[in-house]
Amino acid sequence: MKVLVINAGSSSLKFTMFRMTHERMLAKGIVERIGLDKPLLRYTRYDGRTLCETVDVKSHDEALRIVCRKLVDDEVGVMASLAEVEAIGHRVVHGGEQFTESTLVTPEVKDIIRECIPLAPLHNPANLGGIEACERVFPGVPNVAVFDTAFHQTMPPESYLFAIPLEFYTEHQVRRYGFHGTSHKYVAHATADFLGKPYDSLRMITCHLGNGSSITAVDRGRVFETSMGMTPLMGLVMGTRCGDIDPGVVLHLAAQGRTLAEVDTLLNKKSGLLGLAGVGSSDMRDVLEAAAGANEQAEQAVRIFVHRLVFYIGAYYTLMGGADAVVFTAGIGENSDEIRARVIRRLAPLGCFLDEEKNRASGKAAIVSTPNSSLMAVAMPTNEELMIGRDTVRIMQP
Ligand code: AMP
Repeated sequence: MKVLVINAGSSSLKFTMFRMTHERMLAKGIVERIGLDKPLLRYTRYDGRTLCETVDVKSHDEALRIVCRKLVDDEVGVMASLAEVEAIGHRVVHGGEQFTESTLVTPEVKDIIRECIPLAPLHNPANLGGIEACERVFPGVPNVAVFDTAFHQTMPPESYLFAIPLEFYTEHQVRRYGFHGTSHKYVAHATADFLGKPYDSLRMITCHLGNGSSITAVDRGRVFETSMGMTPLMGLVMGTRCGDIDPGVVLHLAAQGRTLAEVDTLLNKKSGLLGLAGVGSSDMRDVLEAAAGANEQAEQAVRIFVHRLVFYIGAYYTLMGGADAVVFTAGIGENSDEIRARVIRRLAPLGCFLDEEKNRASGKAAIVSTPNSSLMAVAMPTNEELMIGRDTVRIMQP
């Protein structure tokens, strides 16, 4: 079964074409700057052949048509005909409380995605736009929506309710939803497979550490806690987002005369590693390099990042009554042995001990704790696109 996976942003369209029978990536890429100056197509085939060319596209429909042309191109294509695409899986950021699972797209499902726009004003309109572009370009081909929030819907009320008057939840949907669910779900399954243990027998703490970061407690297949909140601003220190902060700070800044838009930009775009490290970059590689070069401010930023992460791991370990594995994934979690080492060295009280040698291997699945650890540390590459592809197949073949 061939499945196209789409992740539509406001000015971008990411795609991955899979042959799901062998879970093989056939082609992937992105159209960037849609509707802006000099839109760009990046396309990579399974054999490593790549293209990068400017394209004239003003809409997601046009971007999708360009991608389709490449997929069946004589030279760089991977299919004889677009009729081979049997289903399309879409990343949708917010499914509110309505979606606890991936689902076949129907007019009613689109209505609910639309109703969730106030909860994800930047993402849901773009995701819906991607679905509608596919409906026009691939008439008759089923679309499946895979929600970032769905995996977290098993959280109990004590995890998802904030301590504000309850009517803000019952009447205004103010609660913790959590994000990165597709990644947390993928690495939780992949870790169970890698360890050769049943997925629903393991208590795992999955750390998705990328530009955006979040941590999730997965208790025998069910999410028990996650660090992002009603929005992706809460929780860990991120590239440009502040993560947890005293809400009184927002009131204080507003009282000083800063506008809502200014505070939004400050906390979402100028904070995190970018704001703390002072090296003009939100990229952990740059911050670590500066820290290694005795830049004390950068070193402090790394310490704050690690401190917050260890804080959450300890809390989740206790809340779950223990854990079998702490899993590191995404750009930083998969690739930075330095960050993993700094975190794992702090986990000795939980029975987790760093294996320096094994931790050096980056970018692939590995147990990076010593064999005598009662809490295992695992590095595990994530693959959100493949998870969307798998869910799409599962929904199509119940
Ligand atoms: P992601 O959002 O998962 O694509 O992760 C992107 C982030 O991963 C980048 O901004 C970097 O901060 C980080 N990253 C990637 N490779 C490394 C590395 N080798 N060491 C430290 N951080 C890395």
